[in-house]
Amino acid sequence: MLTNELQLGEFQKRALNNIGIKTVKDLLWHFPNRYEKFAAASAIADLIGGTSATISGKILKTKIERTWRKKMTIAEALLSDGTGEINLVWFHQPYIAKMLKVEDAVAVTGKIQKNKKGLYIANPVYEKINPDAIKIDRGLIPIYPETRGLSSRWFRFAIRKILKKILEESGNLEDAIPDFILSRYHLPSLKTALVCIHAPKKLKDAEASRKRFAFEEVFAIQLYRIKQRMQYDKQPCFTIKTEQKSIEEFLSHFSFGLTNAQKEAVNRILADFQKKSPMARLLEGDVGSGKTVVAAAAVFATVKAGHQIAYMAPTEVLARQHFKTFTEYFKPFGKKIGLVTSSECLKFPSKVNPGKATHISKSQLLKWIASGEIPILIGTHSLIQEKVKFKNLAFVIIDEQHRFGTNQRQKLAKKSVAPHLLSMTATPIPRTLALTVYGDLDLTLLDEMPPERKSIITEIVPPTQRQRAYEFIREEIKGEHQAYVICPRIAEKTDSKSLISLTMKSVKSEYEKLSKKIFPEYKVAMIHGQMPAKEKEKIMNEFRDGKTKILVATSVIEVGVDVPNATAIIIEGAERFGLAQLHQLRGRVMRSCHQSHCFVFTESNSQKALSRLKFLKEAKNGFELAEYDLKFRGSGELAGKKQWGISDVGMEALKNLKMVEAARTEAQNILASDPELISYPLLAEKLSSQNSEIHFE
Ligand code: ADP
Ligand code: MG
Repeated sequence: MLTNELQLGEFQKRALNNIGIKTVKDLLWHFPNRYEKFAAASAIADLIGGTSATISGKILKTKIERTWRKKMTIAEALLSDGTGEINLVWFHQPYIAKMLKVEDAVAVTGKIQKNKKGLYIANPVYEKINPDAIKIDRGLIPIYPETRGLSSRWFRFAIRKILKKILEESGNLEDAIPDFILSRYHLPSLKTALVCIHAPKKLKDAEASRKRFAFEEVFAIQLYRIKQRMQYDKQPCFTIKTEQKSIEEFLSHFSFGLTNAQKEAVNRILADFQKKSPMARLLEGDVGSGKTVVAAAAVFATVKAGHQIAYMAPTEVLARQHFKTFTEYFKPFGKKIGLVTSSECLKFPSKVNPGKATHISKSQLLKWIASGEIPILIGTHSLIQEKVKFKNLAFVIIDEQHRFGTNQRQKLAKKSVAPHLLSMTATPIPRTLALTVYGDLDLTLLDEMPPERKSIITEIVPPTQRQRAYEFIREEIKGEHQAYVICPRIAEKTDSKSLISLTMKSVKSEYEKLSKKIFPEYKVAMIHGQMPAKEKEKIMNEFRDGKTKILVATSVIEVGVDVPNATAIIIEGAERFGLAQLHQLRGRVMRSCHQSHCFVFTESNSQKALSRLKFLKEAKNGFELAEYDLKFRGSGELAGKKQWGISDVGMEALKNLKMVEAARTEAQNILASDPELISYPLLAEKLSSQNSEIHFE
């Protein structure tokens, strides 16, 4: 279809394909990212050689010449605007002479040059215009994102051609957004919006159109998510009755009292457990806000009522850590806990040594899970393997859920009786985004830190002061504390000659340097994703037990690792990490009442990178950082498309809470009165083409 309309060549087709444009519709939805005003035309009589100018006028003469020695064609045109005449010259572009005819009106931009014959412009950019438009303001020129081989100008002409044809043929375009919503929020119709986004007279019109498309995108995602939730809610689930007293008894074993936010979160979850539909809740709390304790209380309620729970962690290191924490928490209550990872299986307590965990075979573990003998199962991805069959799985916890795709989440949940679902994340999600991409989850915020926790001191360290940072760490270790050093990569790349590989710090080289030269008196260890699981486990244990003082790591320790005695962290090559990720990393040392420090090193001198890091230094919590990222990342480089399946225009909506809330209200209302969208066939069609698999990070 696209090919027929535009008579595309193979090259152009491929270029379009590469940026995901396959249909006429895709092309029309390729929006400009800005507009330029066509400069007002100068009078030819006023032109000065050596300056750049835009002029407009009529063609008086055209000529094509071939210099016979150089074998070059020269196309010429004489342009007049009533005040004077000027020669336009194009080299090697014979077709221009065919396209420009005497009497054509054109606008021309280029550098004015002078020779014996007078003024001329070589290879000017030109555009045919309406003769009436000579010298009058002709609106705005859309500038499109370009791709190799297809210029903004190419898009401008191709899109205009198609738009014109469609509008002439179909008169009006069917609009997926119902009229009453358009008029309620003063949004332009689809037809107006398409015209105004591609060929606006005023910037205001273009902005109104972008707003409309932004609204449409967010509205569609919300409809989809809310509809999914309505279906989810229809599934039967276990009602888990809890006695307040037994929960209090469980919590009394902790050395601390819960924060109010934690108490509230526990109550919310327990209330969900009483309902007829399965819970689908997102627990969002900054690193160190104590999500694991909340999860543990809910787990206790579930196993106390005789049901099973599954706890899924994104990495093996973290799964082991949760296993360890849970064995501590549940020891006094004699509950059995299993750990399943791809490399080994553990069971707690061991028959021989009831205070310890013991290795068991996977088949044995699976048997005990199927019989209900083990009520608590902790694991990594291995958990969602088909082979794991539960007797009565009532509750699923997913830690750092943004690491899992929606499908994976549903795979666990898709059983005849749907388990309650609790997703936990430390990734701060701006509210607009939570309402949109997590629109199918209820949200609970842990917006309170455990008391007496000091906020971290973050320093951006210039290279000259590296020694000072090391001395600081030495003092921390003397004071019985520990430290992390994070590097952006595992090893130096020897095969690459690029400058990056020379300057980018690696775990292996930093480990060598720190263990031999800087801190020979202390035990330094390294850990990274390519190590065997057993070794990682051993290294983590030695660090947790305080034998290792400094742990050099990649960002594998990013998610959830909890060693409260570690109080300082050095982050190398910080410009290579996202703000949220940096915050996660420094969160590793915000886990106790000691003052913690984060030293940030960067190889970058770019102003942008530095101001981002400065913001990291000043921001008090992850939410501020998330809002910063949302606000300051220019469109085009936003992670939205990759991370959440949202376009640049859609990301603009996410900066506007009012719009997102309005879209959500409308989506809820429509689905409440017409759950199958029978009166809204275009919306129904839009939803069926929504991509259900959203990838996270
Ligand atoms: P996260 O939210 O990052 O998963 P964790 O649940 O791992 O945080 O808790 C971080 C640390 O804070 C743990 O060592 C935990 O024992 C401790 N903690 C949790 N809640 C409290 C509280 N209310 N008071 C004091 N310490 C707490
Ligand atoms: Mg955690």
